[in-house]
Amino acid sequence: MLNNWNFENSYLELPDIFYSKTKAENFPKLELILKNKDLMDTLNINHENFDNLLLDTIYNKQLNSFSQAYAGHQFGHFTILGDGRATLLGEHINNNKERFDIQLKGSGKTPYSRNGDGKGTLKSMLREYIVSESMHNLNIKTTRPLAILDTGEKIQRETYEEGGILVRVAKSHIRVGTFQLASLSKKQNDIEELFNYTIKRLHPEILKEEDKYLKFFEKITENQINLIVNWQRVGFIHGVMNTDNMSLSGETIDYGPCAFLDEYNPNKVFSSIDKNGRYAFNNQPKIALWNLARLAETFLHLIDSDENTAIKKIENILEKYESKYNYLWLEMMKSKIGINQNHEKDKDLIKELLDLMQIFKLDYTNTFIALNNNDLKKYDFMQEWISKFNMRKKINKSGSENKFVNPNIIPRNHIVENILNECKVGNYQKLNSFISLIKKPYNSDIPKEFSKEPSNEEKVYETFCGT
Ligand code: AMP
Ligand code: MG
Repeated sequence: MLNNWNFENSYLELPDIFYSKTKAENFPKLELILKNKDLMDTLNINHENFDNLLLDTIYNKQLNSFSQAYAGHQFGHFTILGDGRATLLGEHINNNKERFDIQLKGSGKTPYSRNGDGKGTLKSMLREYIVSESMHNLNIKTTRPLAILDTGEKIQRETYEEGGILVRVAKSHIRVGTFQLASLSKKQNDIEELFNYTIKRLHPEILKEEDKYLKFFEKITENQINLIVNWQRVGFIHGVMNTDNMSLSGETIDYGPCAFLDEYNPNKVFSSIDKNGRYAFNNQPKIALWNLARLAETFLHLIDSDENTAIKKIENILEKYESKYNYLWLEMMKSKIGINQNHEKDKDLIKELLDLMQIFKLDYTNTFIALNNNDLKKYDFMQEWISKFNMRKKINKSGSENKFVNPNIIPRNHIVENILNECKVGNYQKLNSFISLIKKPYNSDIPKEFSKEPSNEEKVYETFCGT
């Protein structure tokens, strides 16, 4: 176990268009209110000394901390951005030589804050803590929460609210938007340097290969397909899949107005700002593909000096996206309903189930649990489908069931809201119980209060950035 960070800041070796040196603001009274011991173990950081270590690091004026610059398409519109409320303390290297960005989110103004205050509400930071830790334990790649600090000050939103800081850990924070920023630079070298840095950091195994740029893009594409298939598996709606919120590490990043489906509706949108349904549940695979095309545009000249040849090579990869996605999605859905082997009607069988779920407004998560427990037969409208399903199961080979597909617990909006409201009045007991439950989401002994779908009164129809 380490008693101190093992920081290196390789990112600062990039050209200075990619960052600005920043420090956390002075907060009157920082208090550590939540910490993630599992993640400390991954980082090989000692539990005992952690509170002091973190506070000392934040107050350390000598630290080489910085905020990253990037651009991005926000709801399709291109903008220059950057970490408007985050400062990266350092890249921690654990005992296995793995590198992790340790970042403060909500730590005050930076050169990229535009009109914002650089802060975050304690409530929204706690929400990101819960949802991202849940995603991690659902076996979905994501940035992770290491700790939450109460900043001891009130910040202005619709009303005055408690301020908070999330200590966020990521494999890297390089986004599609980082490449978009680089491509605007007049210096040819900037994008090449960023590219080589990113390969070295995320896929060093291909660094020496001749067509490393193309190989890298192929890997990024594969990682995105896997990520989105997993989001669809658990009914996760990111809500703001802007290119600045798509990480090249393949991790889910920036939990804003995200939410999990309760009743199944493929067109579901929670985010109050997503008026046209751009980031609806079923649009997520298409949007990831759109974002990948924006990424590819930034480095065509590195793929081939002839633009048409470069475009062909990229198109080859992007054309495979749809078939790969569809294949993995089908395999994932088959495992959700507990069938294996192949049958030509599998896709139709799944589609029929999803249609029934949509028409009869069944809960996405609990329907698969009910199906596996043979509890769907209570519905008259399911009878025909169940007969077909039982026939299909006859060609199953036994012994290959996957226990880690259908979660018994997800962070449903109404439950998380309820927990966060309790925290507001100083009661953290529910939060702690919930966090220990989401660490084992495939366990079947989840108390009903945390696994049941919302009643009509409890349903959350809209989520807000709530920053
Ligand atoms: P998001 O879509 O939440 O990832 O945020 C989009 C951009 O707005 C990012 O560049 C953020 O850093 C920035 N931003 C979000 N909230 C604030 C805030 N309170 N103050 C300054 N910048 C912010
Ligand atoms: Mg963002």
